[in-house]
Amino acid sequence: MKFETIAVHSGADRDPETGAIAPPIHLSTTFEHGPAAETPKGFLYVRESNPTQVRLETALAELEGGEAALAFSSGIGAGAAYLQSLPQGSHVVFADDIYYDFRTIVAEFFPAWGLTASMVDLSDPKSLEAALRAETALVWLETPSNPLLKIVDIESIARIASARGAKLLVDGTFATPALQQPLALGADAVLQSTTKYLGGHSDVQGGAVIVKTRDEQFKRMLLVRKVLGAVASPFNSWLILRGLRSLTCRVERQAATAQSIAESLAQHPAVETVHYPGLASHPGHDIAARQMRAFGGIVSFTVSGGEAEAVEVASHLKLIVNATSLGGVESLIEHRRSSEGPTSQAPPNLLRLSVGLEHEEDLIADLRQALPS
Ligand SMILES: *Cc1c(COP(=O)(O)O)cnc(C)c1O
Repeated sequence: MKFETIAVHSGADRDPETGAIAPPIHLSTTFEHGPAAETPKGFLYVRESNPTQVRLETALAELEGGEAALAFSSGIGAGAAYLQSLPQGSHVVFADDIYYDFRTIVAEFFPAWGLTASMVDLSDPKSLEAALRAETALVWLETPSNPLLKIVDIESIARIASARGAKLLVDGTFATPALQQPLALGADAVLQSTTKYLGGHSDVQGGAVIVKTRDEQFKRMLLVRKVLGAVASPFNSWLILRGLRSLTCRVERQAATAQSIAESLAQHPAVETVHYPGLASHPGHDIAARQMRAFGGIVSFTVSGGEAEAVEVASHLKLIVNATSLGGVESLIEHRRSSEGPTSQAPPNLLRLSVGLEHEEDLIADLRQALPS
């Protein structure tokens, strides 16, 4: 079946008691078991698993084409659980432009977890060869990346990693499974911050890891979730499941609008550089055209001048809201360096725009009136 159809129907089996079309939310934290804790219906306690979360995980696994998925309370919780399920002593190669709190995890927690890391520009797959070590268990990349919209060739990286016995995890939050299918391109796992496009309405936090195979590491990750506790609540699982139903049409529209905005910004004299893989001038354009169905709803750009000029532009916007996060129905802009704080690697004059579902002409007009002429 096609993606759009799966997105509407997966995890949506009719409620056997009532025939309800919208899935019920099971808020119960506990489930009746037998006198020796037998679990005839498969559920025991909410932290282990619960029916609403299982519906979401079924849907996510189907949408990414994986064997199994685990839902978490946040994207960072999902990523951390994957890292914590690696054997002690493992080395991880990260792409250099990754979500900034994963860099914080490396700096603050890797020593205690017995893990080591290298940060490498994976836009050139050859640079991976030099970074791989005997103990490299994982390659971790994000494409398109946050906030520079760098593109990494998933298929080439997967080939090099697997030849050396390392797994590949792709943080696919910016693309969503509607636009990019990393498992089909050779990745072993996909990370989604479901807080973003999958939830889609800026009102729910969540994360998920979807895996190609239900292997030993997957079981370890399930143990991490159960014992360290970053589980998704039933209500959050339900909201994310509901978001999936309209995912395809939301991201298609957001990507089309983002393309128009990127083209318009690229013409503007007060804009220095536009980072959007849909522009033919983007260094990753050809790879993105090959591995994505459309180029996504995030555009970042640098404003001529410096930090002050960029913040000035952000301060003049009337429709586009200054706020962090992305993937909602309303357009949000952010001076990324200010929100990431002192360890940010974002250029000082960079603004990141998450394109919503407003009309593109209104968004372009807002940007034009905010930019110096
Ligand atoms: C937001 C984000 C995360 C972290 O997800 P949370 O749900 O905020 O914990 C990870 N990766 C990317 C690319 C993100 O945008």
